[in-house]
Amino acid sequence: MKFNELNISTVILKALEKENYTTPTPIQAQAIPAILAGRDFLGCAQTGTGKTAAFAIPMIQRLNEHPPKPGMGRRIRSLILSPTRELALQIYDNVKAYSQFTKLRAAAILGGVSQKTQERSLQQGADIIIATPGRLLDLMNQKRIDLQYVEILVLDEADRMLDMGFIHDVKRIIAKMPSKKQTLFFSATMPAEINQLVKTLLVDPVKVEITPVSSTAERIKQEVYLLETGHKQKQLNELLKDESIVSALVFTRTKRGADRVVRDLTKVNISAQAIHGDKSQISRQSALRNFKNGGTRVLVATDIAARGIDIDELSHVINFNLPNIPETYVHRIGRTGRAGLSGTAISFCEVDELPFLKDIEKLIGKTIPEVKDHAYPMPSSLRFSKGKGSLKKSPAKPGRSKSDSARRPKTESVRKTKTDAGRSYKPKSNSGSKRGKASGAARGGSRGA
Ligand code: AMP
Repeated sequence: MKFNELNISTVILKALEKENYTTPTPIQAQAIPAILAGRDFLGCAQTGTGKTAAFAIPMIQRLNEHPPKPGMGRRIRSLILSPTRELALQIYDNVKAYSQFTKLRAAAILGGVSQKTQERSLQQGADIIIATPGRLLDLMNQKRIDLQYVEILVLDEADRMLDMGFIHDVKRIIAKMPSKKQTLFFSATMPAEINQLVKTLLVDPVKVEITPVSSTAERIKQEVYLLETGHKQKQLNELLKDESIVSALVFTRTKRGADRVVRDLTKVNISAQAIHGDKSQISRQSALRNFKNGGTRVLVATDIAARGIDIDELSHVINFNLPNIPETYVHRIGRTGRAGLSGTAISFCEVDELPFLKDIEKLIGKTIPEVKDHAYPMPSSLRFSKGKGSLKKSPAKPGRSKSDSARRPKTESVRKTKTDAGRSYKPKSNSGSKRGKASGAARGGSRGA
């Protein structure tokens, strides 16, 4: 299947060609015809599946083909809501790229930067707004944004909105829009509250569930170093002597941890910068830019800051700390191996992270190969006893209580890709509700990052 078989208009095809897109990803192949036909859409899909183009291409086409009546002026006809600034900026860049040969105008409305430029682009008029909820509400309260002409609403990463506490803001924003509109809803997971929102917002949606979390990991080479406690930094320095690691995104559990890794890498002349919630938006953007253009070799990030970051051709992801939520591991390593490229994910694991490793291996359905030839091996007395998967010593699980782990449902690892036009996909309300509680509680543990 090619893009030109999807009834996409020539102005957009020209832009896609310029971006070197030839073949639609599975979610694009299914979403584009449905959205072009005016249907509401529910996509259960993660970053890396091409979901942005899946909603942006048909949205742009519909707006372009149905301009407002002459004399009506430019009005906000489409709103895309994103949980994070980074994701909003990425969507904005994509929307601009796909609409570059149309007369449509887009504006990004997000916090952390001066409001003035955003006010100016609003005064000049925008057809499409890509916004984070907080700044959008500020501007709505100041009567600078009017959503009464919105025809298409996109909610991206809805589960993340819930995690980050934005769901009430989102509901307040939606209340200011006409009830008759096309709604496109994307979420990587479907906890109960999200399911509820879906029911109230979407009318007879086309539902597509794509890229099971366990299979994203398949094309990525994965390795784990079982390390003696306290030697991760030395091992990282050692690893980065290998010049074939052109660019590495290193994940730490905490903001302070991220700063510490940057400081220690800088000491040994490895260029590194950190992005996390304590950094200003400007410094985050500059770190990301430096990393993307090769000026910085290592970007150190926490999970929340890294959410939505899109780096083409990232060669390595390094888990300095293993996440306590196994799905987070899959999200992290999915930063490499984008758009069909291969990549390498290396994880450091100390004794108290062994239970996390076990959970991750269970989710992805395979054992991550261990690199044994290194200077700081974990004493063998502390490892899993062979074959049984049980620990010789039972280390504590930091950051997750027994009840969290007991509540985490098992559905994620067996989730299958299903597509439909309203039939075969059924969000499982029971498991969804369990998952909602579990992911909320468990993710809360790493929230401070
Ligand atoms: P997303 O899941 O929307 O964050 O997209 C992941 C990455 O894939 C982005 O870098 C997109 O620019 C890229 N991408 C999306 N769709 C295609 C496509 N059909 N062909 C090539 N690259 C794509």
